Amino acid sequence: MKVDVLVVGAGPAGLSAAIELRRLGVGSVLVAEREAAAGGVPRHSWHTGYGLRDLRRVMTGPAYARALADAALAAGAELRLGTTVTGVIAGGGAGLGGGPVSVSMTSVDGVETVRAAAVLLATGCRERPRAARLIPGDRPAGVMTTGELQQRVYLSAERRPGRALVVGAEHVSFSAAMTLAHAGARVIALVTEYDRQQSYAAFRLGAALRWRVPVWTSARVERVAGRGRLDGVEVADVRTGEARFVPCDTVVFTGDWIPDHELARLAGLAMDPGTRGPVVDTRLETSAAGVFAAGNLVHAAETADVAALSGRHAARHVATMLGTGSKSLAAGARGAGVPILAEPPLRWISPNTITSAATPPLGRFVLRSRDFRRPARLEVRQDGRLLARSRRVRLVPERPVHLGAGWLARVDPAGGPVRVVTGSLPVWLGAPLRRPRSRVSVRRGRWRAEPPATSHAGRRHRARAAGPGLPPSAHRHGERRRRSTSAASPP
Ligand SMILES: Cc1cc2nc3c(=O)[nH]c(=O)nc-3n(C[C@H](O)[C@H](O)[C@H](O)COP(=O)(O)OP(=O)(O)OC[C@H]3O[C@@H](n4cnc5c(N)ncnc54)[C@H](O)[C@@H]3O)c2cc1C
Repeated sequence: MKVDVLVVGAGPAGLSAAIELRRLGVGSVLVAEREAAAGGVPRHSWHTGYGLRDLRRVMTGPAYARALADAALAAGAELRLGTTVTGVIAGGGAGLGGGPVSVSMTSVDGVETVRAAAVLLATGCRERPRAARLIPGDRPAGVMTTGELQQRVYLSAERRPGRALVVGAEHVSFSAAMTLAHAGARVIALVTEYDRQQSYAAFRLGAALRWRVPVWTSARVERVAGRGRLDGVEVADVRTGEARFVPCDTVVFTGDWIPDHELARLAGLAMDPGTRGPVVDTRLETSAAGVFAAGNLVHAAETADVAALSGRHAARHVATMLGTGSKSLAAGARGAGVPILAEPPLRWISPNTITSAATPPLGRFVLRSRDFRRPARLEVRQDGRLLARSRRVRLVPERPVHLGAGWLARVDPAGGPVRVVTGSLPVWLGAPLRRPRSRVSVRRGRWRAEPPATSHAGRRHRARAAGPGLPPSAHRHGERRRRSTSAASPP
């Protein structure tokens, strides 16, 4: 079988790409989805908040998933459900004679090879499960990720009475707490190793007022206990090491995202050590010509509308490559590529290589930090040359920071890697004498040439470092838990 474009994954990114490809006149678009229904994660995320930036409506997850799937079918894309893509060979393989990319798909009908002129990988991401977090102990039932919890509760109508603990305190952790409450659980707490939660204050307040769920900061789950069923978990204070046993019936591991990157690895694509997804340029093309990647595979995890818009962005460049899209998108020939490196405390940046002056999705780069920094400036440098410096931005682990792309034209294609750093070197240590000319936006602010950041930011950061930690009861019960695994009382 031959198609113009094969899209892997029918989540918001894949479906939005398929709709856009058809809108731009691409002849045949096939979307392969391993699940029995299209829509990706939103299918089992029943709360509202989907579709804001891409559909300009606010919808529940299932309604959003249905709307995208219906629109893809109406646009003329073919959806192949229950079909897993198991291999991608860029370059078509010797003697295939079809499109430049060869794809293997497996379904109940057997194995099929599809040749495509271009492939878009939109396989999404997942939360790291307990095993991948290397948490020792027993292997009882009742331990899961938010994704699994939502599927059980919303797709299989499962009830989860009893006490529940949520590991993580980012946006999705509050979503997990909400799902648990709907399933009849009493959520004891959200647990985070950081000294404060990483979501919006309003979410924490909402959880505290509506369900009386506290956030235990500077705390870590260190052991899971239970034969058959979960008895509880050991929670330790990361500063003192004091631990206690917290009895519970469900524990949900949230966040700590990892892209579903197995297919990209198998295809031999260059991988980014920061995002742990494939390296992509600002067109979202990977290291293999004709293979593109979009959505949470390249930025785990953003909201669904951002994933959808990145799918749309990739589709436009695929269409341009195939000759049906806008010529103005071409933005110069594809060069060898200048890597973009995010330096600590920044964890990653996406897209992460520059091959042309094409702008990234939404005209901005997205970054993550591993630490809290407030306020902080981002600087973009190449070979000691300052390309741009931001206003102060707030860095919060697991929350996106955006960096405008107006400096792209100033990158030397023959130069070294572009580095994005936090804070500011004093002018005499390398900042240019010439002010950057480009004005590009950072979140709601604008790039501008500013004096270096003062150490005031660092002072404020240190002043905030002492968080509330585990509630006093958590420390009090440290000794008792060693004698009896069920002795600790609820906080
Ligand atoms: C609990 C939770 C709550 C959330 N709440 C919100 C919210 O309120 N608002 C919001 O905007 N966003 C929310 N999000 C984020 C949002 O769901 C994601 O950003 C969005 O689904 C990402 O889209 P995607 O297309 O990149 O990936 P996904 O939605 O993950 O879709 C990827 C698809 O690829 C398929 N696939 C993977 N590998 C293969 C393969 N080899 N072959 C075939 N198919 C394959 C998968 O089955 C899946 O259907 C939430 C996420 C979670 C987990």
